[in-house]
Amino acid sequence: MIRRKIVAGNWKMNGSKESVDSLVNGLLEIESQASEVVVAPSFPYLSQVEQLASKSQLVLAAQNVSDELKGAFTGEVSASMLDDFGVKYILLGHSERRSLFGETDSLVAKKVAIALNAGFAPMLCIGETLEERESEQTLEVCKRQIQAVIDTVGIDKFDSLVIAYEPVWAIGTGLSASAEQAQEVHSLIRAFLAESSKSVAEKVQILYGGSVKASTSSALFKMPDVDGALVGGASLDAKEFIEIVKAAG
Ligand code: PGA
Repeated sequence: MIRRKIVAGNWKMNGSKESVDSLVNGLLEIESQASEVVVAPSFPYLSQVEQLASKSQLVLAAQNVSDELKGAFTGEVSASMLDDFGVKYILLGHSERRSLFGETDSLVAKKVAIALNAGFAPMLCIGETLEERESEQTLEVCKRQIQAVIDTVGIDKFDSLVIAYEPVWAIGTGLSASAEQAQEVHSLIRAFLAESSKSVAEKVQILYGGSVKASTSSALFKMPDVDGALVGGASLDAKEFIEIVKAAG
């Protein structure tokens, strides 16, 4: 099965009107047949990016969504609000949300359900900490994080989402998993999904994230179960991000 690659930039809490302007302008030249190219700016810049990128190939993602639909939830952003800005994907379960903002497997699963019901494609982020890897719990952690979502939305809905395997020890550390390490976990994740549905397992795109750079991306993209990348730091540099998109083919 040929799965189209996705190269997604997670800008995290970075940027200003000015820097977003120059970053998006730097990305407008991207024309890739092989991959879908996604950027996830902070909420205040969604409208700006939507307008600047309207004639380009760039696809918009949000970095989070509320688990509530509307009402007295100060500081939250609802799924219907994101719908006003042409957002396609929503990052959910990012390790920074899990570790710094206390998002549990069940909250992440609830958000996935909200996003799917509103017609978005969640990018479900999963991955183990260094301690978990060293105690050989990598697969167990990934399975647990995925199972919570299967239990809530059902395996068939995995048709409409993307998984991002992001080992926590590789995020923002410069310590990328090797292409072989990524492939090993991606293939185990796919095998785990196949226990519930073979067709879903074949179809679901599994991205790798964690210190992806232009120099490491081509080896990653050669791996049969690596269907793209979720890029943090390197996505803030237009030239570097374009190189990563090129490496995807
Ligand atoms: P990084 O971040 O590329 O800066 O490691 C990846 C991510 O957190 O999605």
